[in-house]
Amino acid sequence: MQRTVRSAILFALLVLGMVLTACAAPPPPPASGGAATTNEAATTEATAEAGAATTEATAEAAADTSAAGASTELNVLCTPQVQWCEGMKAEFEKVYPDITVNFVRLSAGEALARLRSEKDNPQFDIWWGGPIDSFVAAANDGLLEAYDSPNLANLRDQTLYKDADNRWAGVYVGTLGFATNKNWLADNPGVTAPTSWADLLKPEFKGQIMVAHPSSSGTSFTALCTVLQLMGEDEGWKYIQQYAGQVNQFTKSGAAPAKFVGQGEAAVGIVFSHDIVAEIEKGSPLELTFPSEGTGYEIGGMGIIAGAAHPDAARKWFDWALEPATQELGPKYEAYQAPTVNGATASRPELLDVKLIDYNFQYCGDNKNAIVDKFTNEVAAAENLKE
Ligand code: PLP
Repeated sequence: MQRTVRSAILFALLVLGMVLTACAAPPPPPASGGAATTNEAATTEATAEAGAATTEATAEAAADTSAAGASTELNVLCTPQVQWCEGMKAEFEKVYPDITVNFVRLSAGEALARLRSEKDNPQFDIWWGGPIDSFVAAANDGLLEAYDSPNLANLRDQTLYKDADNRWAGVYVGTLGFATNKNWLADNPGVTAPTSWADLLKPEFKGQIMVAHPSSSGTSFTALCTVLQLMGEDEGWKYIQQYAGQVNQFTKSGAAPAKFVGQGEAAVGIVFSHDIVAEIEKGSPLELTFPSEGTGYEIGGMGIIAGAAHPDAARKWFDWALEPATQELGPKYEAYQAPTVNGATASRPELLDVKLIDYNFQYCGDNKNAIVDKFTNEVAAAENLKE
């Protein structure tokens, strides 16, 4: 009997607390993480008033109110190969079943152009993957929102792998290599796979090289900026004029030359080594080599879009992508980039064990527009790119 009276009082207090909460909490702005925090705080207050006996009811109420303010959608701009994008979507939705991920796969240059054109009306919440040079350029244009994720502490290198102002973080690392078709080598006795940037200019490779165009592709831009740093701008541009003369066709996407060279459409592709390995794993007759002068590398980036409609879901993805278990998912989706966080093991450590240049991401990001424009206007126009 006494118990029933106490329960009735506690119930009345709970109802009063919930009414007060409803009056005190401002209506949640659409799809904002901030609203969830406000409601959670108010619910906690009501809980204290209602007392410990109502724990279960309060937990349900808290779940309801926070769910009301939480985003149920996340729009990801995804730059790595589509298979990995699909895999990441599925893995994230397993962890966050209340959030549906929509993604669009665009090469880094295309992604940057899209973000610029949508600056006043952003359609994406987060950009995941693609060389960091483009993220530096995006941050310079005010397109990325700073986020001080607790998981930034997981990064192996606190200087190189994140923006000083937390507008982007590195999610993988990969090196540039050359992919040569072994059947073509067999048909051309005496010719060996290129092992230097200088080799690419040899007469036997005239019309036999395939690489993406730097206006659309982050891979190709990494190659371009590598050469400019290795040789200096004057010599570098002279080299690039000659190198472009060796190219059979420019592709839109950075990884595509590995596939086309594997199919025998050209002899040599300039591609990230992890993409070459992925093609070899599929059975493509490719030989992977690296330039002896030193090769460029990418830090694959991630950043939340300024003005995103679903910033709370974007922060969840950002935190999740910096967890070791997430970064070890790559090989399941044929992605062999090295992880950037402590506690995650690289599937192909040998791809990083090559001579690297001291790639200056800030220089390349700051000068990306000018370098791409010069290439397009003075070296090779970006028309009729092969998919
Ligand atoms: N695919 C993979 C596996 C990559 O690692 C990268 C670079 O980050 C890209 C694609 C980039 O694509 P693109 O060169 O088409 O911009």
